[in-house]
Amino acid sequence: MKIRELFKRSDLVYSFEIFPPKVDSPIEVVYDAIEELSSLNPDYISITYGAGGRVQDNRTAKLASVIKNKHNIESLAHLTCIGATEKSIDDILKELKENSVENILALRGDKPESGFGNSDFRNSQELIKYAKDNGGFGIAAAAYPQGHIETLVKDKDIDILKLKEEAGADYFITQLFYDNNRFYEFLNKVEQKGIKPPIQAGVMPVINKKQIMRTISLSGVTLPQKFLRIINKYEYDKIALRDAGIAYATEQIVDLISSGVRGIHLYTMNNPYIANSITNNIKSLIQSVNKERAI
Ligand code: FAD
Repeated sequence: MKIRELFKRSDLVYSFEIFPPKVDSPIEVVYDAIEELSSLNPDYISITYGAGGRVQDNRTAKLASVIKNKHNIESLAHLTCIGATEKSIDDILKELKENSVENILALRGDKPESGFGNSDFRNSQELIKYAKDNGGFGIAAAAYPQGHIETLVKDKDIDILKLKEEAGADYFITQLFYDNNRFYEFLNKVEQKGIKPPIQAGVMPVINKKQIMRTISLSGVTLPQKFLRIINKYEYDKIALRDAGIAYATEQIVDLISSGVRGIHLYTMNNPYIANSITNNIKSLIQSVNKERAI
């Protein structure tokens, strides 16, 4: 099923994101996590692709297939086009299609330190259009409530979002953010621009100060004082930081759902304990919004 159908059927779409294991680990190391995450009955699970400059391989497609065909949960395969040729993209799209994976998150990918190099695609809009025309995939694209790190002109990201919609994006998933007010300001601009596809809010619970600071430095996302106090206070107490991170993400999600957000995309970091805790905290809210949905 195309994920855009899920948005038509329900007022709130709830999904998880995982990443493939490092290339020197067997792919099976994430199977238990996938099993536990699937048992929480998300609407779909997405799988990152070559993130953080890691070697790109076909593990994303394999995991998307396991989620869809073994666990019967819709999957969303991330795909980046930086440094890609039409042939390399064709190979991946073919593998996804053969495994009944119907949805991709079409991305440009992070700029490598060595520069962009040769690529048949200049930006995500070209990949969105290509994947739509070559296989009829359902397409998600990225959105940046606090702006993309390379964007120097204020609100240019809203113009780019419109171009992604025109290229064929069915819906958007946002970069993580820790201040909901920034997200609401962004939604107002999206509405003023006449952008129609639903927007799913990306929420990343903090479990490790070093990791979150690295993500923040790469993305340019700002951190509210309330969040900074938590990571500074519990930086050396793993359990306390994890529990405070779960509480912070829960509070963020409660506010987002109460404000009528169309979807929550939880960056699980392959950690079923965190996904389980947050899902338990909010499942009555999801059910309240989507009366027919079991979770
Ligand atoms: P684009 O939409 O191509 O935008 C990139 C830059 O170019 C922006 O600054 C934009 O303003 C500018 N731009 C785009 N089009 C035009 C135009 N027509 N004219 C002028 N300027 C333009 N990365 C991975 O490597 N693997 C992953 O699995 C992954 N998953 C992600 C999941 C989510 C939900 C998000 C939000 C990001 C993810 N990323 C991932 C990171 C993403 O690849 C980077 O943020 C990347 O730098 C930009 O990708 P994009 O698709 O938004 O690019």
